Amino acid sequence: MSGKETVIIIGAGPCGLAAGLALQEKGYDPLIIEKGNVVHTIYRYPAHQTFFSSSEKLEIGGIPFPSIERKPKRHEALVYYRKTAERSKLRIHAYEEVTGVTKRENDFLLCSKTMHGEEKEYTACFIVMATGYYDNPNYLGVEGENLPHVFHYFKESHPFFQKKVTIIGGKNSAVDAALALEQAGAEVTVLYRGHEFSNAVKPWILPNFHSLVRRELVTMRYGAEVTKITPERVHYQHQGKLREVKADFVFAMTGYHPDHSLLQRVGVQVEEETGRPFFNKETMESNVEGLFIAGVIAAGNEANEIFIENGRFHGEQIADAIAARC
Ligand code: FAD
Ligand code: NAP
Repeated sequence: MSGKETVIIIGAGPCGLAAGLALQEKGYDPLIIEKGNVVHTIYRYPAHQTFFSSSEKLEIGGIPFPSIERKPKRHEALVYYRKTAERSKLRIHAYEEVTGVTKRENDFLLCSKTMHGEEKEYTACFIVMATGYYDNPNYLGVEGENLPHVFHYFKESHPFFQKKVTIIGGKNSAVDAALALEQAGAEVTVLYRGHEFSNAVKPWILPNFHSLVRRELVTMRYGAEVTKITPERVHYQHQGKLREVKADFVFAMTGYHPDHSLLQRVGVQVEEETGRPFFNKETMESNVEGLFIAGVIAAGNEANEIFIENGRFHGEQIADAIAARC
């Protein structure tokens, strides 16, 4: 047994860290257990990602986030969250994955596994689940999706120079990837099931994209439903006809969703209609007493309704609720 804790936070994303800082503010010394390292999701973003949020909207614990431009780049956010974790002396066990949480009469039993394969156990009076959504892509569910040239994450454009690349999806990740890949000399086709871009796509990235389409530097197919992926082609239905496009690489930028299985195993109910875990909106406490939810994991089928800008405040609600109890 590794120790008795008052609060354990699972996940050191921006919302888990924010919960840690809010609890520190109330006099607690929470333990954060993270299967990667701090802000692992942001580390996995495209290498040159610019946030759509301005830096003050990404701040946690009231600690200023100065950035060169109004909207910071990924690497500036990595520095900010690292420095924030370091200076605040948050206790973080990195590269340790939580594998199970069990509710007992007066506390929780938490099991984890370290990067070296060591299995650990902790007890805690309160658990804050802040495990995010980025590990779980929305799969298309078509044949060939698991081929090695099909990706659900875009990192860098360089390897795709002068290669035929098909992007599936029609929101921010798809448009961002198309812009970066075209700039690096890839031959880009975008297949989107929708008939026009929605308001969710940031308006400032669209003019460049539309200009590339007009100049035939990017091929855009709206109303395109992908049916199959083979090693050299993507097959899709378009205006009632089966069509195909040659593709050396495929980026299925179809979004991500939270995995509620760890929550469900400990007894948290998930609403069938919305896919949302049950929690009290005032306190973020789930139907399992003492188990709180922070960040994107609180979202259901509409994963994009919670992001750093709003999920960073869940920790304050949780800290208030815990402080009122012990
Ligand atoms: P995460 O950041 O996903 O953190 C969860 C953490 O839990 C991860 O570090 C993960 O490794 C860890 N974890 C998971 N399971 C376990 C386990 N079993 N044991 C231990 N640790 C575990 N939002 C904005 O507000 N503004 C933006 O401009 C913005 N830009 C974005 C750009 C891109 C390309 C993407 C993909 C997303 C963007 N978002 C933005 C959304 C933002 O990244 C998420 O809302 C945010 O990461 C959610 O924070 P979180 O702490 O809830 O989850
Ligand atoms: P997303 O917003 O969830 O969009 C997924 C896209 O894939 C949508 O166009 C969706 O179609 C399509 N799609 C989903 N399932 C599909 C299926 N089964 N078949 C075909 N198409 C499917 O995902 P995202 O663009 O990766 O964005 C994820 C999060 O990151 C969002 O919160 C986003 O705002 C954020 N992000 C931010 C930035 C930035 O800050 N610059 C950049 C990229 C992403 P519909 O449109 O029909 O739903």
